[in-house]
Amino acid sequence: MATFKAPKGTYDLIPPVSVKYLAVREAISAPLRNSGYGYIETPGFEDVGLFARGVGESTDIVSKEMYAFETKGGDQLALRPEGTASVLRAALEASLHKQGNLPVKLWYSGSYYRYERPQKGRYRHFSQVGAEAIGAEDPALDAELIILADQAYRSLGLRAFRILLNSLGDKECRPVYREALQGFLRGLDLDEETVRRAEINPLRVLDDKRPDVQKQLVGAPVLRDYLCDACKAYHEEVRALITAAGVAFEDDEKLVRGLDYYTRTTFEFVHDGLGSQSAVGGGGRYDGLSEMIGGPALPSVGWALGVDRTVLALEAEGIELDIPAPTAVFAVALGEEARRVLFGKVTELRKAGVAADFSFGGKGLKGAMKDANRSGARFAVVAGERDLAEGLVQLKDMESGEQSPVALTELVDAVRARLA
Ligand code: ATP
Ligand code: MG
Repeated sequence: MATFKAPKGTYDLIPPVSVKYLAVREAISAPLRNSGYGYIETPGFEDVGLFARGVGESTDIVSKEMYAFETKGGDQLALRPEGTASVLRAALEASLHKQGNLPVKLWYSGSYYRYERPQKGRYRHFSQVGAEAIGAEDPALDAELIILADQAYRSLGLRAFRILLNSLGDKECRPVYREALQGFLRGLDLDEETVRRAEINPLRVLDDKRPDVQKQLVGAPVLRDYLCDACKAYHEEVRALITAAGVAFEDDEKLVRGLDYYTRTTFEFVHDGLGSQSAVGGGGRYDGLSEMIGGPALPSVGWALGVDRTVLALEAEGIELDIPAPTAVFAVALGEEARRVLFGKVTELRKAGVAADFSFGGKGLKGAMKDANRSGARFAVVAGERDLAEGLVQLKDMESGEQSPVALTELVDAVRARLA
């Protein structure tokens, strides 16, 4: 019995299910790689201050969910709870924004850590694929990102997702709204923590999931009524561009999202088959974040899609991804000489780009053929001493069961021809 288990709130990705995660990461990143986004990888931990300043002290992510620790050397670090602050930090550090080609478009894929109450779709270690477009204020960029995420989900066959869209205003109009909302919230009967939240970050009270709070929020001032003309025009342009691209969305004036850095465009992808953990991804514009972490003004927009919840969404819709069998040819060698020869042929097949595997462990014909079956290979190559004496191997089509002798010297070509 194994003594150790995966830590609470985590799980291992193991075959055959793990291949789905690879396919999801591939599907989400493909539209980005096809649209000028370059790959970026940053460390799994950062200075804790980056997240405190970048994500926001009052957010759940920073105040409750962050794995923060002191190193032996006395550095205050945190496991990354999200990707945007790190990517922007890295872009600033490398001066990518000074190379005269704004926006800087980047995509990433990796592990994130949040100390949450574990439940289905909510883990302490999870993975995201994300995209950031740094240094341009252009509604077409917001639209591009929403369209690419939609394309990614559609390419996976997902249909039961919805895009919720809102504008959070900018540094001109949001403070006016904030004050109006605060005035409204002060008149409500809220618990102490929520009252405190209303003073620090009143917009996030709108996001409170509790029904009694939601009931009191009926009649709260709506941000849409406070948007300045510039924000209104910007938002209308984003809406027009995604509509023209045939991407359906719903206006959701209550959508605020749990990070402090968002301005203007905010969106969330929700999936209706997931129950309470319905958000599969989200993002928006974060025009003030660069300055918050000590950089120049760099208006930017991005999103992150959760890989774990996307896999759950696939399951909820009963979607089986079309993933090719990992092995095309499985070699079954009977006897020492055959082992040596076929092992060489497997190496040759692999070099020729054919996915091949071998019956390891000195099994007999029956056990080795079982392995061949289990591998999902289209062909088995079987050889014993007698075949080899004639310079032959038996090529068995695992679908039809048909078997035919092939000259050893022609094996690689014969297999390639049949797989083509
Ligand atoms: P939620 O409201 O469900 O807590 P969030 O707003 O905190 O989500 P984001 O920070 O926007 O989530 O992260 C983007 C995506 O990452 C989410 O939509 C989700 O798919 C995924 N995600 C976030 N936290 C977790 C988690 N603890 N476990 C699994 N996936 C997560
Ligand atoms: Mg959360």
